[in-house]
Amino acid sequence: MDESIRESQLESQVSEIGSDLYRLAASAPPSLLDGRGLKGRVVARALRDEQLRAALFRFVDTLPQLQTPSDVAIHFFAYLEGRALGGTWGRLLKLANPSIIARAVRLAVGRIARYFLIEETDRAVSRVLKQLQRFPAAASFDAVGEAVLTEAEAEHYLRRNLASIDWQVAGGAKPPHLSIKLSALTPRADPIDLAGARERILTRLGRLMPRVLETHACLTIDMEQFELKPLILDVFRHVLDAYPEPEWLPAIALQAYLPDTATDLEQLIRFARARQRRIGIRLVKGAYWDTEVAMARQRHWALPVFADKAQTDAQFERLTGILLENTDVIYPAIATHNIRSMAYAIALARLRSLPNSSWEIQALYGMADPLAKALARRGVSLRVYVPIGDLLAGIAYLIRRLMENTANTSVVRQTYADGRDPRVLLAAPRAQAGAPIRANSDEFSNTPHLDFSRSEVRSRFKLALDSVRDQWGREYPLAIHGVTRKGAYETSINPAEPNALLGRVEMATEAHVDHALANARKSFADWRETPASTRVELCLRAAGIMLRRRAELAAWQVFEVGKNWREADADVAEAIDYLRYYAHDMARLGGWQPTALFPGQTNHLRYEPRGVTVIIAPWNFPLAILTGMTAAALVSGNTAIMKPAGPSQIIAHQLLDVLHEAGFPPQVCQLLTGRGDKVGQRLVEHPDVTMIAFTGSRDVGLSILRQAAGLVPGQRQLKRVVCEMGGKNAIIVDSDADLDEAVLQALQSAFGYQGQKCSAASRVIVVGNDLHDRFVARLADALDAQSYGPPQDPQNEFGPVVSASARKKVEGYIELGTSEGRLFYRGSAPDGDCYVAPAIFTEINPQHRLAREEIFGPVLSVLRARSFDDALTIALDTDYGLTGGVFSRLPAHIELAQSRFRVGNLYINRRTTGAQVGVQPFGGIGHSGTGIQAGGPDYLKQFMWTRVVSENTLRHGYVPPDSRQ
Ligand code: NAD
Repeated sequence: MDESIRESQLESQVSEIGSDLYRLAASAPPSLLDGRGLKGRVVARALRDEQLRAALFRFVDTLPQLQTPSDVAIHFFAYLEGRALGGTWGRLLKLANPSIIARAVRLAVGRIARYFLIEETDRAVSRVLKQLQRFPAAASFDAVGEAVLTEAEAEHYLRRNLASIDWQVAGGAKPPHLSIKLSALTPRADPIDLAGARERILTRLGRLMPRVLETHACLTIDMEQFELKPLILDVFRHVLDAYPEPEWLPAIALQAYLPDTATDLEQLIRFARARQRRIGIRLVKGAYWDTEVAMARQRHWALPVFADKAQTDAQFERLTGILLENTDVIYPAIATHNIRSMAYAIALARLRSLPNSSWEIQALYGMADPLAKALARRGVSLRVYVPIGDLLAGIAYLIRRLMENTANTSVVRQTYADGRDPRVLLAAPRAQAGAPIRANSDEFSNTPHLDFSRSEVRSRFKLALDSVRDQWGREYPLAIHGVTRKGAYETSINPAEPNALLGRVEMATEAHVDHALANARKSFADWRETPASTRVELCLRAAGIMLRRRAELAAWQVFEVGKNWREADADVAEAIDYLRYYAHDMARLGGWQPTALFPGQTNHLRYEPRGVTVIIAPWNFPLAILTGMTAAALVSGNTAIMKPAGPSQIIAHQLLDVLHEAGFPPQVCQLLTGRGDKVGQRLVEHPDVTMIAFTGSRDVGLSILRQAAGLVPGQRQLKRVVCEMGGKNAIIVDSDADLDEAVLQALQSAFGYQGQKCSAASRVIVVGNDLHDRFVARLADALDAQSYGPPQDPQNEFGPVVSASARKKVEGYIELGTSEGRLFYRGSAPDGDCYVAPAIFTEINPQHRLAREEIFGPVLSVLRARSFDDALTIALDTDYGLTGGVFSRLPAHIELAQSRFRVGNLYINRRTTGAQVGVQPFGGIGHSGTGIQAGGPDYLKQFMWTRVVSENTLRHGYVPPDSRQ
């Protein structure tokens, strides 16, 4: 605060202005909270009962998706029965005709929605403008919308904003005022590709700008979720430079709940000053607090928002001060319903003698009424933020508004509904000194994925790609103790550029296999006796090395198996997680443990390693799966021989380096590269092998299970096989599913990493013909908006499949699909040996091969179901049982899926891929696996057997104290 304005002087003015505003406001609450009529009674009850409030929100959120009156009635009772609908009223309602209930419910929700959201018509815009003139207040119109997944939807958003300008001009707005969301201007606003996203946004914005400039409209760019902030700020700066017209006022919203906003504001002020350009800044508190906190916690990222609301309020005042100090280059819009925050701004403006035209207060439509007059009397300019749109498009907005205004901490609620003491509400915000949350380092927690919205993270990743490129062409010899003769070398290629030679890898010979097995057998006795704590320590050290080298390890995946940046980083994070998870687990399982108390005896159990363990891994999670199985083997005391898949052999060498650097002895942990049907086969058959951990296709898995079941001469132990195999995973889209979510998540589940995930969805089963048609059309358009190309370029969401032979196999299925069903969509992909353009098939029936065989590529079949039950039957009509997905809002259907949709990993209202170690232990049943999930509490035990020692401690009538009852 400026020295010249003394704090006490300011506080006394805040208090005086605040009391005055409060008096006027409290006597005329916003109509939602005025307690009148049925609406008043419903709102009053919802305010008192938090569970009812949650049920209401969930119901309202579902309502726009419901197609038939009976659907509306079913959901209405499902969410509200027993809460709002107890007693006689509830029983009577249940007897009513569904269409009457549906009509009444839609009418009631529609009415409440219209307190906040106006219809998207020229008449409604003009009516609101007139209504606001009477306050008087200006307006800013926000065309609220659903998620933009396709180019057509982005185009539609643009057209709605052009129409909004025209309607405002016709309605007499001088000048028109728009608030826009940049993420709605393109379906590809991913900050990982900042330059590309900026260009796409500016291109579409470029079609709005002529009309904006011509009408001198003010355009405020809204702030959105934290991840998009760098992109939004970047585009804003580019807009300023691209449109230097001095009479035009570009504006941006900043959120006070982000500690970072103070720095952003400083930079914007400097930027504006350097260009001698006035900019508008709308200061808001921030509307995505709950989501930001949940997402940060899920990702283990630092909280981007203040944890304590009072800190946000305090920063709001600090930023208000900075804005009002810089009105030479800033036009501040203080957007709040908090009377204290408003009074603070008014008092400060008065003390600074700022003309009323140099700043404004903004409030939301539906919330401004009581204050408008009070502000007008003080000559303060008021602008009302008016969302326009239909109920379906505006539902997310509506829910946010309802949550905000009815939460216990809401000032609006406290002011108008709870009748809190105005002195408390007008007191200066004081942050609570909360105890810092300490992470318990003894507990496992997942490795955070990289945040690619940060430029320094992207730069580091680019450097890693360059450094790996410099390592191309090296030789990767085998280092098996005792082998002198070299094997042949094979090349490892980059599927995005098959001519680029990544390296030459030595193939194991029979001598390599035999020596490796002899080494593993000999070193087992010592390794078994190595204390579990040492093995645990080595795993944790390996995790540390991987963490240090994470960008480089991910970069290798980009080149060797064609993963995009995010997928590659996630794979490394998962590998680190496995090392740490199994290390923590072994710390728990190591050593002798007492069984039950048995007087006169001691009984102890110990987990012991099985022996020589062969790890046979696939290429699609080239580091994570190989690391997971190997870490489990090693930490539990087995000696390990890794046999990676052909397409990911350099990555396997990187893992071997990491493990040796961590201190695992070379003969305890060995690597054999080579063909599965030669090297893999010889390993599986060998009598010295006691355990095989396999992840790969069903055919290979079954043949390993078969071979391991028999005894071969010289074999002393039965072989234990842990087998994780393929899937034919289905997602059910129920008739009430949220299409925004279902389309986006199905797209990621089916086409992420080109469909080459065992967890990938390859069937989507949609309930109802109408929904089927809408779903598949939107999915195809959303897929069409994605970009294909070399994954080292972050603009490409999708890259090549892993090899030319994989491409041939997938293309074969696409050809088959055209005879079995209808090729609904075929995308385009770059030329090249390993690119497959994605395909969506419809009219496939459950007996078709397309619906039964694992394709492992970017091919999806969309099937029809008559009912949810029917959809479940189709989903379960498969030999596999790995993952499944359900998009439904009906609690009964969710429960049904939970009990009947028997797969290893069932995902409800989220994508079916991306299981996290410890959070979603992963693995399937049926032909998908042997049923104990990786990254879960039971996995490690498979690598051990238990030994029990019982000792009789009775000595002629004396029972030692430790074995007494
Ligand atoms: P794949 O079965 O072709 O190969 C897997 C491994 O087995 C490779 O290392 C390969 O060299 C080896 N192998 C091949 N023939 C062998 C033989 N006769 N004896 C011993 N080893 C042999 O599978 P892939 O193409 O590498 O991976 C894709 C498959 O893996 C898909 O079916 C996918 O669903 C499955 N997968 C399953 C999971 C899971 O957790 N359930 C995870 C990832 C991948």
